[in-house]
Formats: sequence, C-alpha cells, structure tokens
Amino acid sequence: MSLAVEKAKEQLVKMGLAVVQANLVLGSWGNLSYRVGRDDVVVITPSGLDYGRLHAKDMVVVDLAGAPVEGHLRPSTELPMHLAIYHSRPDVHAVIHTHSPYASGLAVARQSIPPILEDLVSVVGGTVPVADYAPAGSVQLAEITAATLKNVNAALLANHGVVGIGNTLEEAFQVCRVVEKAAQVLVYARIVGSPVPLPDEDIIALRDFYRNSYGQK
Ligand SMILES: [Zn+2]
Repeated sequence: MSLAVEKAKEQLVKMGLAVVQANLVLGSWGNLSYRVGRDDVVVITPSGLDYGRLHAKDMVVVDLAGAPVEGHLRPSTELPMHLAIYHSRPDVHAVIHTHSPYASGLAVARQSIPPILEDLVSVVGGTVPVADYAPAGSVQLAEITAATLKNVNAALLANHGVVGIGNTLEEAFQVCRVVEKAAQVLVYARIVGSPVPLPDEDIIALRDFYRNSYGQK
C-alpha cells in the first residue's frame, strides 16, 4: 500500500481516540473512514473494536465498491453508508459517524438543527437535516444519508446519531463537535426563549468567509 494509505491508518487511530475523548461515542460505537483519492481506496475502522485498542494494522482497506483490498478484520457495519457518501460527494475525503448525546436527542425527536450559530453555519453550510429512519448498517440508511448530505456537511440520523463529513479527518471531526455543541445550545435556547436562526444572507457570507478567508493560508 502507498504511503498515503499508511498515513490514513495512523490518522484514523489518532482521530478515533479524539472522538472518544470528546464524548462523541461510547466504547466501539461510531466509525471513521478516509478516502485516499490517489489509490481509489477507502480506509475504515474495523467492526466492534474499542478505539483504545485500535492500531494502524487493524484498519480495513476496501475499494470504492467495498471489495476488500487489505486488512485482517471485518470493516465497520456502516461501510455502505461511508461508500454512498463518497460516491455522491467527490469533494469529501473523510466521514465520521458518532452517537453524541444532544444531537442524538434531536435525532430521536426528529428535529433538524436550524442555522442558529456562526460556527455551525461555517462548517456545516446551513441547517443540519434529519435523515429518515432506516436500520443501522442497511443499504437504505446508506442511500438516505448520502441523499441528505447532498448540500451540507452534517446530518442527524433518525433514532441513531450523527454523520459529519469534510475534506480531512480534522474537518469531519470539527463538524461532529460543532453539531453536538449546537444541539446543546438549541436545547438551552428553547429553555430560555425561542431560538432565532441567522438570516440567509449572513449564512451565505459566513460560509464564503470560512471557505476562502478563515485561518492561515
Ligand atoms: Zn451508529
């Protein structure tokens, strides 16, 4: 395998631990993957192993149709969802699926997260929609989730959890953290009053600024 694939495995180990430390998943739940464009392969976490016990050699490499390329373990059961997202979003190279508590609460209530915060709008692109319910690991869930993520970088999965996507694993991780924070803020805002979403023109401006001018070039 290429150096890029080996690097992706190391990054997935590191990011898996970060996802646990940020309280976005418990135990071995959730899953992470990275698409190595040059090799046309996806590197994904294995099924059912605690993140604290994962090593680079445990990562599973598959082609874009899901056929095994390398690895001695079974891939995450959500592999179909990761592949469907990569097929529908050529700009995306990282997918992180979490079960974080506040966002899951809204997913259970089947309530989207409106564009209420600047950081949310910047990284997600607008409202975080709810993907209709389908059983975990199913092809239906894969198709519904990919369709829901057509124009935004995060979705709530009804009665299940969250998916965040990005160009890098760091970006997808940031999306998952910001969605969880926004879900918590939305609940607080409803306790003290009525949440007011940002106007459309500010959403466009924030998204544009984040894409083109934010951070160090
Ligand atoms: Zn899940």
